[in-house]
Amino acid sequence: MKNKVVIIGCGNVGMAYAYALLNQRTFVNEMVLIDLDMKRVEGEVMDLQHCLAFAPSKIDIKCGDYTDCSDAKVVMIAAGVNQSPGETRIDLLARNAAIFKDIVSKVMESGFNGVFLVATNPVDVMSQLTYKYSGLPSNQIVGTGTTLDTARLRQIIGSRINVNPKDVSAYVMGEHGDSAFVTYSSATIGGEKISDFINEEDYSTICHQVRKAAYEIIERKGATYYGIGVAMVFITNAILGDENTILTVSVHDQNNDVFVGLPAVINKDGVKQKIYVNLNDKETRQLQTSIDIIKEAVESVKE
Ligand code: NAD
Repeated sequence: MKNKVVIIGCGNVGMAYAYALLNQRTFVNEMVLIDLDMKRVEGEVMDLQHCLAFAPSKIDIKCGDYTDCSDAKVVMIAAGVNQSPGETRIDLLARNAAIFKDIVSKVMESGFNGVFLVATNPVDVMSQLTYKYSGLPSNQIVGTGTTLDTARLRQIIGSRINVNPKDVSAYVMGEHGDSAFVTYSSATIGGEKISDFINEEDYSTICHQVRKAAYEIIERKGATYYGIGVAMVFITNAILGDENTILTVSVHDQNNDVFVGLPAVINKDGVKQKIYVNLNDKETRQLQTSIDIIKEAVESVKE
C-alpha cells in the first residue's frame, strides 16, 4: 500500500521531520519534498537517499511538485517566513497567511483528500486558515498544537521525579504560545494523581519552564526543530497506522469556531474525536483566554 507523505517547506522543521521519518520504522514508504528553493531541496533529497542503505525501512524519496499531493495520505506544511526587522507579528501573520492561501489552493487543485498536518506558526491560526482555504472537513486538518509542549512537560516531570516521560500522563492545552496552560487537576503518574508527587505551585513553575522552552532554545541555537520533527512522526504514525492515539493537537472547536490545542483521538481520518478533559475553574478560564487570543489573531488576517 502506498503511504505517501508530502512535505511543503523544507527548512529546519521540514527536514527534521523528513530525517526523523527516515530514522524510525514508520508506515511511510514514499516521501516527496517541495520548497521554493528547489535547488537546496535537491541536495537534501540526495543526502537523505544516501541514508537508505542503513535506514530501518525502504522509503522512496524525491523532489516533487503540487501534483504529487493528489494521492498523498498526509501533506505536512512547515513553510513560512520569519519576522523581518521592524515587522509586527500581525504583518508577519498576514504574510504567512498569503503563503498558506497559495500553498493550500495548489494542494487542493491536485485533488488531495488526505490529512493536512500543519506546523507553521502561529500554528493554531495557520490550521484554521488551512481549514478555510482547503474547504475540507475539519477532521482532515491537524495542527501540531501543544503536542510538543506536552512532550516537554512530560520530559520535565519525568526527570524531576525520575520516571520515564512515557509514564507521565499530563497535558499542555490551549494556544501553542504564551497562553498555553497545564492541566493539574487531571494529570497522573502511574495512575496516581500528580498532586501526590508535585504541589500546585511547583507545577506552575514547571508550566512556566515549558512555555519558556522554545525561547531558551531559540536564544541559544536560533530555532527549534528536532522536538517538533519527532512529534510529527508520532502524529503521522497515528494517522497512517489508524492508531486512535490521543494527542494534544490543534483541532477545530465547533463551539468557538477556532482551532486550539486539545486532546484528541487521531486515526486515518485525522481527528476522530476530541476528548473533553474535566477542567477546574482556573483551567476553564485559561482555555477561554487562549481561544480569545487565537480568535483575535485569525480575525486580524486581512484578505
Ligand atoms: P525555515 O525558515 O528554516 O524554513 C521555512 C521554509 O519554508 C524555507 O525552506 C522556505 O524556503 C520555505 N518556504 C517559504 N515560502 C514557501 C512557499 N510559498 N512554498 C514552499 N516553501 C516555502 O523555518 P523553520 O525553522 O523550518 O520553521 C518553519 C515553521 O515552523 C515556522 O513557522 C516555525 O515557527 C514553525 N515551528 C513550529 C513548531 C511547532 O511546535 N508547531 C516548532 C518549531 C517551529
